[in-house]
Amino acid sequence: MPCKNCENNPVIKLPNSNIYQCKKCFNKYFEKKVRKTIRMYKLIDKKDIIGVACSGGKDSMTTLYLLGKILKSRNQKIIAITIDEGIDGYRDLTFLKNYCKENNIDLHSFSYKEEFGKTLDTMLKLTKEKPCSICGVFRRYILNTKAKKLGVTKLATGHNLDDEAQTVLMNQFRRNVAASLKLGPITGVIKDERFIRRIKPLYFMTEREVATFAFINNLKDDYKECPNNEESYRCYIRDKLNEIEEKFPGTKHSIITSFLETLPLLRKNYNIKKIKTCKSCSEPCSQEVCQACKLAEKIKLL
Ligand code: SF4
Ligand SMILES: [Zn+2]
Ligand SMILES: [Zn+2]
Repeated sequence: MPCKNCENNPVIKLPNSNIYQCKKCFNKYFEKKVRKTIRMYKLIDKKDIIGVACSGGKDSMTTLYLLGKILKSRNQKIIAITIDEGIDGYRDLTFLKNYCKENNIDLHSFSYKEEFGKTLDTMLKLTKEKPCSICGVFRRYILNTKAKKLGVTKLATGHNLDDEAQTVLMNQFRRNVAASLKLGPITGVIKDERFIRRIKPLYFMTEREVATFAFINNLKDDYKECPNNEESYRCYIRDKLNEIEEKFPGTKHSIITSFLETLPLLRKNYNIKKIKTCKSCSEPCSQEVCQACKLAEKIKLL
């Protein structure tokens, strides 16, 4: 089946349709949809300095590439931020470093070793804490504190439609609706300058669309799976959701659309706890001392 628009060889069949598109038409469609998301949800203001949280994978590389292109045309600043957890044989940042160099993007790298004294591998040898629990807390902490220091006003991540649909379902199934308040194309339940707002420009793009975009635009290196990946529940939901999508096309979009319809009501009616200030580092948190400081202290003593 040739491209619907120009009869060239297709690279993808668009989701929920019988439309095939060639590289050129697909790139145009993809960029247009991302621009629309940015516009509709007011993800970027004229004065914003955007930081892109980069792992080097297809999602963050696509985000960096497209935001780089969009912001360049507006004369706005963009920087890349990356974190090396210290997981043996996992993070190879060569591709990202080269990309940033070639495209004149400032890349700021941080590591758990420098920030918390030990690599994640070392921490895991000394504690029984789950890898992703430690990693998630430290990553969020580094991203928020460093982004602020760098003058970043919004932090872009590469979350796509599949990621978000999985998280919405996981939160529902676990009766953890409060966690969904932080979802959506832009975060910010509470207007608090101590939190750098997160934006997700790929919010309405499916995993397959992002993978195709990254592949045809040479934005993908050999990306390895983290050896600590223990998100078996997410993997289960992902597989089930893909099965349902196969049988009932449009399901993922419907999950997201209905979620977005209820999100303003959720945010309005949910009892949001008062945000305190961490006694140790002055970052915002829900208790006296933030999770990162508690964990860091524990790890220091090991
Ligand atoms: S899978 Fe877990 S341990 Fe690995 S990088 Fe992600 S959060 Fe960290
Ligand atoms: Zn075409
Ligand atoms: Zn703290």
